[in-house]
Amino acid sequence: MMGSTMLHYYWSVICKTKGCGTRHLLSYIGTNSTFTSKPVTIQIQCLDCGQTHLYLDRELKLYPSGSPPVEGFEPKF
Ligand SMILES: [Zn+2]
Repeated sequence: MMGSTMLHYYWSVICKTKGCGTRHLLSYIGTNSTFTSKPVTIQIQCLDCGQTHLYLDRELKLYPSGSPPVEGFEPKF
């Protein structure tokens, strides 16, 4: 399954505020499909709705993106 588009994987969460649904990219993992990075339990403040929620490690989702981290990307863990 080789494609011309390389995927970049992130740990991500979707904001828990009802109706917000902003995706937060927490940590850049890389382009490989074998990850050594483990999710963590983490508290995230959403800049869109202003709410802070706690996300358990098992609630973090792998998010494949077509783009590498933007300049200034600050991983949360
Ligand atoms: Zn939000």
